Amino acid sequence: MSEIRTDPISGHSTIFAPGRARRVNDYGRVEAEVSPRELCPFCEGHEWDTPEEVLAYRADTSANGPGWTVRVFPNKYPAVTGETGRHEVVIESPDHGRTLSQATPGQAAEVLRALKERILAHRKNPAVKSVTVFKNHGPAAGATRVHPHFQLLAMPNVPRRLQEELARGREWLRENERCYWCGLFAAPERIVFETREFVVLTPFAARFPFETWILPRRHLSHFETSPDTALADLSRVLPSAFRRMERLLKNPPHNAVLVSAPIDEDVLPHFHWRIELIPRLTTLAGFELGTGCYINSVLPEEAARKLGKAYRDLRRPGGAASGDSQPARDGRPHRALRSRTGKSENLPAPRRAHARLAG
Ligand SMILES: [Zn+2]
Ligand SMILES: [Zn+2]
Repeated sequence: MSEIRTDPISGHSTIFAPGRARRVNDYGRVEAEVSPRELCPFCEGHEWDTPEEVLAYRADTSANGPGWTVRVFPNKYPAVTGETGRHEVVIESPDHGRTLSQATPGQAAEVLRALKERILAHRKNPAVKSVTVFKNHGPAAGATRVHPHFQLLAMPNVPRRLQEELARGREWLRENERCYWCGLFAAPERIVFETREFVVLTPFAARFPFETWILPRRHLSHFETSPDTALADLSRVLPSAFRRMERLLKNPPHNAVLVSAPIDEDVLPHFHWRIELIPRLTTLAGFELGTGCYINSVLPEEAARKLGKAYRDLRRPGGAASGDSQPARDGRPHRALRSRTGKSENLPAPRRAHARLAG
């Protein structure tokens, strides 16, 4: 039996059609390597093959050479330039195969710090109104490079979807006298896991199977001005969210998007920034393109339950993730995450990249 839900803030509708569902395992796919590491301009030692860096974290090594942990440079083939904006690439690690799901909290924190620094840099340009940060992983998600990276687009306008969310969020606050986003935290059936600072949940009208949002618990409208304590917590939450998705869905192609308030807006009481994690198990077809309405075969409540459980299952002795009990490479102690059942979970240690499957 299908069900139609409309997201009260973004306004889009989703038709949930579980009859169309296949087993979760059927979704997993292995994709061919599209850019081998010998030819990868994003790898350490190939810096000469990219535009000059605008930011890099280095220990006494010279710019545009090896010896960095995170590196940012303008996109060689930008979608926007000059008056239409800036397009940058944020390389998450010198390691070709080390995805965020495998990142130590230290590495993830550096990636988040680089994103924050670049957004703050663009904020100084009065022509820039919004910055969108996103990630494509796997050809089916639009990636042309395997090497893990984010892209950043600084633009002179505010995307329409964000404008509409801000307007509806403001109305919601006025009509209901409470924040819409805070209200999402009161639906335990859609919560995957929570920490002191973040709630990881599946949205009410999820557009895609296993679509997951990472939301700050506090009213934080802008990612780039969030307190350090929040970003430190996120450096553990983010790899954990990616890890669950990769393990449950067998390394699916996916996108991630940072949705944050326009950079020239003051702090907003009716908006929380968020990171959307979208496995690309299905393709947008004629119906979606023609109507702006989505068909999703997995109810978000079921997705939350499976993503919540994925972690615990894989922690069992002999489970596929048993290698995760190794100590973290950066030697820092693991901090406990609270699961939706309130049970404590130790974050797993990262694994070295083994053969990567998708870009
Ligand atoms: Zn590479
Ligand atoms: Zn709120």
